[in-house]
This record gives sequence, C-alpha cells and structure tokens, in this order.
Amino acid sequence: MELFKLNNVSKTFRMDGDEIHALKNVSVTFDAGDMTVVLGPSGSGKSTLLTLLGGLSCPSDGEVEYRGRSLYHLPGAELAAIRNKSFGFVFQFHYLMPELSALENVMLPCRIQRIASQESAQRAEELLCLVGLKDRMDHKPGEMSGGEAQRVAVARALVNRPEVVLADEPTGNLDIHTAEGIHDILWNSCQKEGR
Ligand code: ADP
Ligand code: MG
Repeated sequence: MELFKLNNVSKTFRMDGDEIHALKNVSVTFDAGDMTVVLGPSGSGKSTLLTLLGGLSCPSDGEVEYRGRSLYHLPGAELAAIRNKSFGFVFQFHYLMPELSALENVMLPCRIQRIASQESAQRAEELLCLVGLKDRMDHKPGEMSGGEAQRVAVARALVNRPEVVLADEPTGNLDIHTAEGIHDILWNSCQKEGR
C-alpha cells in the first residue's frame, strides 16, 4: 500500500532576496512496511524532505499525500493528531525535555493523546527496557550520556506505535559503537512491528 506520495514537490527558502531550492520537483512514493534510507551530501535536502513527510513544514509547490490525502490541506487539528499518533520522530539531537525523567519523556506522546497513565507507563517501561535503559528510567536527560538520551528519544518515537518512524541522522552525534547499537534497536523494532 502506498503510504506517502509526493507529486512534484518543491521547497524554496527565501533569504535576503536569495532563493534557496532545498527540493526541486521531487516525485516519489513510500510504501507501508518499507524501510527507506535517504542518502545525500550535506545540504542536499534530506532534512527538508523529512519535515515535509512529517507534517512539520508545507511544500512551496506540489502535493504531499499521506494515505491518499493531501497532508497540508487537512485541518490543523487533524494534522496535529496524525503527527502525534501516526508519526514517530527521531532527530540528530534528542530534544528530550530536560526537567522530565526518561520515563516521563517517553510517556509524553501518550499524555498528549490522553492515554491512561498506567497503560502508557507500562508501554514506556517496556520500551526503555528494550533499549537497555531499565536502570535509567528515573534519570533526567542531563544525567545521561548522549547515547542513552538518544535511546530514550527512540523509545519516545515508538511509544504510540506509530505507523511511520522518521529518523533524521539519529546517530549523527554519536560514536560508531553507540551509533550501531541505536541503529539496531530502531531497525529491529520497526521491522518486528511492521513500521
Ligand atoms: P540536508 O539535511 O541534506 O543536509 P537540508 O534539508 O537541511 O539538507 O537543507 C537543504 C538546503 O536548504 C540547504 O542549502 C540549507 O541551507 C537550506 N535550508 C534548510 N532549511 C532552511 C531554512 N529554514 N531557511 C533557509 N534555508 C534553509
Ligand atoms: Mg539534515
């Protein structure tokens, strides 16, 4: 099944009178259950593509369809609900809430959805165990290593059982050994759960 369809999508940034063409006439589809890696040099538009897919930034031209519906023509509340329930994001930097514990950070997407806290705590604990942080649940991001914080971010991206996981250089800030571990966790859990 076709999950995403981009029709002639362009994204242009205007800065000081200059036009920057981050994406130009991109047409591509992504099917459900597929795992796709986007490769390209720095500045080639990878992050821009991911923000367009994730409902975070609308195209300057063309259509981004998700499940046959034009993502950026949906009412704002519906787009926000899709982002919360159907998409999980992992970025290069973890973007965890510094004042919340690992467990509370992972539970946050559930709280936005108003899922009963016992159920979401259980799911969050399972995921933190899966990413090897059983003993770090009560730690705040400042009390964890970069690799541990990024594993929390992976757990947070998976907690709502999203259909789609969008990861933008999720291991770009980490050493190769830590990066491989996180890569395996993300890849295996997506494969196992059909994301
Ligand atoms: P990548 O992720 O492949 O490194 P990006 O998608 O971040 O590439 O950027 C693509 C191009 O768009 C780059 O030239 C970048 O400088 C430019 N760009 C990205 N975001 C913005 C922005 N918010 N304002 C202006 N230019 C931007
Ligand atoms: Mg990028």
